[in-house]
Amino acid sequence: MKLLSFIVCSLTCLLVVPILSVAASNPYEVKQGDTLPDIAIKYSTSAENLIQINGLQTSNLLEGQLLIVPTKHEVMPGESIQDIATEHRSTVESIKKDNHLTSNYLYPGQILDINPRKLNRKGNHILMTLDEFKEWLFNHQFSREIRLIQQHHTWQPSYKHFHGNNHFQLLDSMRTHHMKTMGWSDIAQNITIFPDGKIAVSRPFDVAPEGTIGPTANKHGIAIENIGNFDKGHDVMTKEQKDAIVAVTALLSLKFDLTPSIDTITYHHWWHYKTKERVLDDAKDYEVKSCPGTAFFGGNSTANAQTYFYPLVQEKMEEFKRTFSKQEYKDPLAQ
Ligand SMILES: [Zn+2]
Repeated sequence: MKLLSFIVCSLTCLLVVPILSVAASNPYEVKQGDTLPDIAIKYSTSAENLIQINGLQTSNLLEGQLLIVPTKHEVMPGESIQDIATEHRSTVESIKKDNHLTSNYLYPGQILDINPRKLNRKGNHILMTLDEFKEWLFNHQFSREIRLIQQHHTWQPSYKHFHGNNHFQLLDSMRTHHMKTMGWSDIAQNITIFPDGKIAVSRPFDVAPEGTIGPTANKHGIAIENIGNFDKGHDVMTKEQKDAIVAVTALLSLKFDLTPSIDTITYHHWWHYKTKERVLDDAKDYEVKSCPGTAFFGGNSTANAQTYFYPLVQEKMEEFKRTFSKQEYKDPLAQ
């Protein structure tokens, strides 16, 4: 018996140990009871570094959440540093520095330390490309029930205030305005989409948005502020921003299992200014805001949304579904 278990163990150890010590642990799936400091120790890093790499909005972890962690990589024949950097969301420079490499030469079997790149962050604002946002959204788990995606335009700041690189400055000034003037607890919106197609997350998804659309829309809502004034005759939305708005709305619909309709994707214009209840198209002009703009994807009525916006979102959802299986992160459809 002893001999048999010895043999079994040896075989198992031989098979498993070398793989475990080298294979990518990325992404790490959070188990019940895991804390950020525990995981940091396990991967020889700090909790702060994990927060920065993953764009965490809180240090509380939820079971099933995926975390990108520092890892080791065994070089396969034909692999370049660039391939490895792309695979692990790192950079050629950081891989060379962390492994004291003086050239791009690699040999098969070489073991490399890999530190994934940090997301672009200032305070609570995390600024991402669409690909980064997609990964961020599907790696995260949320405890709040989210079933209403709100579309807004900022009106001000508008296109004339955006200079191509002042994303954080605009986010900070909105946050200050919302907190100091409006008396809210944080910036009102969860998501901000810029004219260049960049996407910022600010107010944590697990905290309901705050703002004039009212508590009924906010309770289970996620608020998107699209930078610009999209009332007729003002800013003409860029293709980059259009694509990002459609894609972000499609990704949120997939993540939270929503089918585009007036009950799942809402315009601020459909909510009474005073009563804060949903009135759809049945209000006088002075009873509702024009937000997200009288020219937002063809207009701000429910018919406009059904004709010009939801079909684009639906089509994009189908496109994402076809590519999900190829992604590294967990397939949301398999959950
Ligand atoms: Zn609005």
